[in-house]
Amino acid sequence: MASYTYVCPECGNTVEREYRVPSIIRTCESGCGFDHYVRAELADAIAEVPEESRPDDWDDLTSTERLLVAFREGFLSMGDVR
Ligand SMILES: [Zn+2]
Repeated sequence: MASYTYVCPECGNTVEREYRVPSIIRTCESGCGFDHYVRAELADAIAEVPEESRPDDWDDLTSTERLLVAFREGFLSMGDVR
C-alpha cells in the first residue's frame, strides 16, 4: 500500500500515513507549537513561496494559512491538495 509523508512545519519531523490528505492533526513529539503535519509535497510548495510573496505576518501564519498563500501565489494547484 502506498504511504505518504507528513512533515512538521516547525522542526521537519516526519511521519508516514497510508492515506493522502493535505494535512493531519497530531501533536509533534518535539514539543512544537504546531498541531498540524503537512503532506511533504505541500510543505515543499510552501517552502518555495519566495520572500517577496510572503505576507508580513508569515511567521505567525498556521500551516493551513501558508497553504492558502502558496495557492494564491500559484505554487499549488487544486490537484495537489486532493
Ligand atoms: Zn515539530
